[in-house]
Amino acid sequence: MRRILLWMASNRWLRERLPRLRFTRRAVRRFMPGEDAGSALDAGASFQADGITSMYTRLGENITRAEEGDEVAAHYAGLIDDVRRRGLDGEVSVKLTQLGFDLDVDRTEGHVARLAELSAADGRTLWIDMEGSAYTEATIAFYERVKQGHPNVGLCLQSYLRRTAADLQRLLPIGPRIRLVKGAYAEPAGIAYAARHDVDANYVALAVEMLDAVKAGKDVRIGLGTHDVRLIEQVAEHAAALGLPTTAFEVEMLYGIRVDQQRRLARERYAVRCLIAYGDAWYPWYMRRLAERPANVLFALRQIVG
Ligand SMILES: Cc1cc2nc3c(=O)[nH]c(=O)nc-3n(C[C@H](O)[C@H](O)[C@H](O)COP(=O)(O)OP(=O)(O)OC[C@H]3O[C@@H](n4cnc5c(N)ncnc54)[C@H](O)[C@@H]3O)c2cc1C
Repeated sequence: MRRILLWMASNRWLRERLPRLRFTRRAVRRFMPGEDAGSALDAGASFQADGITSMYTRLGENITRAEEGDEVAAHYAGLIDDVRRRGLDGEVSVKLTQLGFDLDVDRTEGHVARLAELSAADGRTLWIDMEGSAYTEATIAFYERVKQGHPNVGLCLQSYLRRTAADLQRLLPIGPRIRLVKGAYAEPAGIAYAARHDVDANYVALAVEMLDAVKAGKDVRIGLGTHDVRLIEQVAEHAAALGLPTTAFEVEMLYGIRVDQQRRLARERYAVRCLIAYGDAWYPWYMRRLAERPANVLFALRQIVG
């Protein structure tokens, strides 16, 4: 089921047709408050009232003209401004391919540098998503370059990739800001752990590695981008054993997923951040959410009759 849904995510024919169906549009509402940035910011404001901070991303990937990347960068610049004007503790997360990474790396670097500067003005992090494995090495090298001039840039790493342990070792000396996730793409077994148990074990090992670095006085910001509360608790236990507070890391979850847990963790004084997506290019992103939990397909199908 996961493979089929991930194949559907990348199928161009379906990408052009499925989003037009009314039931798909209704079903996607579960994972995003609306297609416009205003709806995302409204949702962020209501989370903030419950002690949950926010992160924003406009959906879209792999553009075909560099000018589209310019438009996306200009949009995010405006968004960072809006977040600040609305008094939100919100940060922005970008996909490099949406900023033109496939077409012009230098221009993409210019966009990221500018967005990082705007974010730094009041101490915010600018996050870079991690995409499929064809981009891993290039994205990490890009991060190393941009981090030199912009310490407030953060990067997502995926625990399903076998290489990630080495990537983390490579990044620790530069004081990275890391959002650790399991990984959302279909990757070949040679480079990725196939068994859930291995992905989870690697997740905890990587998180522990980062906590140990914090304990040793290194400058590392840790985001746990997962809904797997069992893993979060294991990491929290390790933090407690090291004498670190629950706020030594941030728990980051997606809008609409395990909202009860987001609220519970915030009540228990964890630092919780909710990633809120918006935009009209939601199809591949939505299919990846279905692939993560096939029970979501039933929910989506129920919208046909609902
Ligand atoms: C803040 C954030 C940022 C992310 N950024 C990236 C990125 O840049 N690159 C990338 O490859 N991936 C990214 N992801 C996605 C990530 O890789 C996983 O695919 C996703 O988080 C699901 O895995 P999980 O860790 O929640 O664990 P799982 O083992 O998949 O899920 C644990 C439990 O959470 C619940 N759950 C998980 N997903 C869903 C869902 N879709 N619907 C309903 N319930 C669900 C279920 O109860 C499940 O049992 C991000 C995720 C988050 C939360």
